[in-house]
Amino acid sequence: MKKRSSSSGQNGQLVHWWQSLSRFRCSNHRLEVECGRHAKPESVPRRDRICRLCSLGAVEDEDHLLLVCPAHHDIRCKFSPQLGKQLTPCNLLPELMHSANQKAIALYLVSCLDNRSVLLKSTM
Ligand SMILES: [Zn+2]
Repeated sequence: MKKRSSSSGQNGQLVHWWQSLSRFRCSNHRLEVECGRHAKPESVPRRDRICRLCSLGAVEDEDHLLLVCPAHHDIRCKFSPQLGKQLTPCNLLPELMHSANQKAIALYLVSCLDNRSVLLKSTM
C-alpha cells in the first residue's frame, strides 16, 4: 500500500518548483539585484548589488545566477543535458517564460537557488 505522505511530498515538491519559477519570472526573489533595489533607507545602486559567492565583481541578477556564476557551475553542468539547449542571455527569458521543458527549467532554477542559500549560510 502506497503511503499518502509520499505522494503529498512529491506534490509538495512540484508545487515548490512551480512557485519558485513563477516568483522568479516576476523578479520576486532574493538575489542581490532585487534586495538592493528594495534596501532601506535607500536602494543600493545597481552596480553595487554584487554577487557574494564569486570574485567576478558582477551584479547578481538572473543572468548571473543561471548563466555565469562559477559557484553554480557544477549544477549548470548537471542540468545541461536535461535542459536540451544551451541557455544564453538571449534565450534565458524566453526559456523561463515558455520553454517546452518547464520542469527541467524549474528544477535547474530551484537547484541554483538552493545552492545559493547553502553557500551564503556557510559564509556567515
Ligand atoms: Zn557569482
